[in-house]
Amino acid sequence: GRVISRCTSADDDAVAREARDVTGLNAPDIRRVAVISVHTSPLAQPGTGDAGGMNVYVLETAKELARRGILVDIFTRATSSLDPHSVEAAPGVTVRNIVAGPFEGLGKTDLPSQMCPFTAAVLREEASHEPGHYDLIHSHYWLSGQVGWLARDRWGIPLVHTAHTLAAVKNASLAHGDVPEPLARQVGEQQIVNESDRLLVNTDEESQQLQHFYHADPRKIDIAAPGADLAQFTPGDKLQARKTLGIDPAEKVIAFVGRIQPLKAPDVLLRAVGAMLDADDTVPVRVLIVGGTSGTGQHGYSLDAIAHEVGIEDRVTFLPPQPAKDLVTVYRAADVVAVPSYSESFGLVALEAQACGTPVVAAHVGGLGVAVADAVSGQLVDGHDVHDWASALREIVGNDELRARYAHAAPIHAAQFSWGHTVDALVECYRRALGAAVPPSSQLTPRRVAGRARVLRRKRNYSR
Ligand code: UDP
Repeated sequence: GRVISRCTSADDDAVAREARDVTGLNAPDIRRVAVISVHTSPLAQPGTGDAGGMNVYVLETAKELARRGILVDIFTRATSSLDPHSVEAAPGVTVRNIVAGPFEGLGKTDLPSQMCPFTAAVLREEASHEPGHYDLIHSHYWLSGQVGWLARDRWGIPLVHTAHTLAAVKNASLAHGDVPEPLARQVGEQQIVNESDRLLVNTDEESQQLQHFYHADPRKIDIAAPGADLAQFTPGDKLQARKTLGIDPAEKVIAFVGRIQPLKAPDVLLRAVGAMLDADDTVPVRVLIVGGTSGTGQHGYSLDAIAHEVGIEDRVTFLPPQPAKDLVTVYRAADVVAVPSYSESFGLVALEAQACGTPVVAAHVGGLGVAVADAVSGQLVDGHDVHDWASALREIVGNDELRARYAHAAPIHAAQFSWGHTVDALVECYRRALGAAVPPSSQLTPRRVAGRARVLRRKRNYSR
């Protein structure tokens, strides 16, 4: 095994040498990263099923890493017999489709049964390369963390983990009718929190949640705000966008973009628009809902039925999931984008909309409190009371001057969030994981060096 070859002589000198390396004195450059994304491919169309912000995050950060000379291999589960073994997603970014279980018919909740074949395939693939092929593993979502943990132990390289969502946090703010995340997931997440070398989160709030719910060591946590593709998402001609979508220029358009599931609360938006029109039915409102169905707890969740129930079915337009280049048109056509989610680890849609010069009304939950500048580029609404939402929407839709002010500020706020900034923080996190830039709070003390030496000894024994 790799670790044996790195520690053939069992003497303590070698162990101490390795321990010194983690101080950063001999830290290697990062050449190649193994990214694990088991349950969803970065090449899948986001906005439906299990594909969403995480897919965009994994692909965009990989592309940016590759631009900086760091090669990225993304391991994901093949879901079609047509998936080639590997695909070059961008220069320097390879997606490796791992066959583990049937191509169709397995949902996210079935995937724990496929961890062994998936991990075995990743380990075998790496074994076909020279030792030291990867410098670091970055796992996304807890299922991938399970794979990354074992690979980390085999390869003797650090594991950085991003949870994206956490069961304990999600369960604490479930939508009505949504199914709670199982205990097994929370147990798995806890193990990964304990085992990872570093934990990467989107916001300070997420860092607090990791500490509160999972007792994570704060010294292991790094924060990197996600971004938006600021070259793609730019302000543009609203009338032209309306023309492309066939929307009347006189209408006030409120858009929802994302996976259709109770957690994202598009029903709250429809009911709020219903309440708004109950108060004044002369407002020419159009609700534009973009995305496909997703997630658990779907039974009986029909936006058509809700629109009918609140009497606005003729004011709602549904569009299937759109690629980013067409989403730009949606954001530009909208007067306001609503993000009423019950829980949101960040909320890329809010950033993208603002980058296109569109104000956002968002629930004051999770990363949305960072993604939206309250009363500057849009508004944050506490809770999901339909009347609170109706009054926030009415204020923006009915006040051209306010909307213009938010619209002006929106791209300025969004400009702080580029994938370049995210990857600056990501690389810093990777360097910490490799021991190259240990922050003052976690400087290696003699005790920690001894601890590290123990870990290296344990790894050596393990690989025997
Ligand atoms: N998205 C898309 N097409 C759609 C709907 C959504 O490409 O029709 C993308 C959207 O641009 C965003 C991501 O899906 O980048 C959703 O991310 P977000 O953080 O808003 O929500 P998540 O899916 O992670 O819950």
